[in-house]
Amino acid sequence: MVRPIIRYGEPVLHRTAEPVTEITAEVDALIEDMIQTMYAAPGLGLAAPQVGVPIRLFVVDTSLGHRADDLVVMVNPEFVEREGMQLEEEGCLSVPGFNSTVARPERVVVRGLDRHGAEHVREGTGLLARAFQHEMDHLDGRVFVDRLRGIQRDLIVRRIRKLSRTGKW
Ligand SMILES: [Zn+2]
Repeated sequence: MVRPIIRYGEPVLHRTAEPVTEITAEVDALIEDMIQTMYAAPGLGLAAPQVGVPIRLFVVDTSLGHRADDLVVMVNPEFVEREGMQLEEEGCLSVPGFNSTVARPERVVVRGLDRHGAEHVREGTGLLARAFQHEMDHLDGRVFVDRLRGIQRDLIVRRIRKLSRTGKW
């Protein structure tokens, strides 16, 4: 089931998500819905807070569903390694219509649980590293806009406020 994606400004997107204590049938159904929602958008990744569920879980697929091996489900993820630096344009399904250049490490290694509760470790460079970090930020209540410098951030926030006031957000 495709779920509605929560937009910037909703409190659930701006607070730290809670660890998953057990991968219950409910959590498994949420993972399935998140995968479907990510592909339907389409997007490269989706974190549970973006569908209104404040738990530490994200899905990423930089192939947008074209290569089955590229689908990554991470429950309770943590960084094992982070190195280098890349500067690329970034957007977010919760901030539609806005893009900005964001500095991120070039390579990361993430450890977490897969859909079945088994520990797995995934390495990402370039776009995959960016996707991992973007989704990890969501679990800490951070949206890419929060990583921008003053003027850039203020411009986007002001535009979003204006859209909200006119009921277009
Ligand atoms: Zn996002």
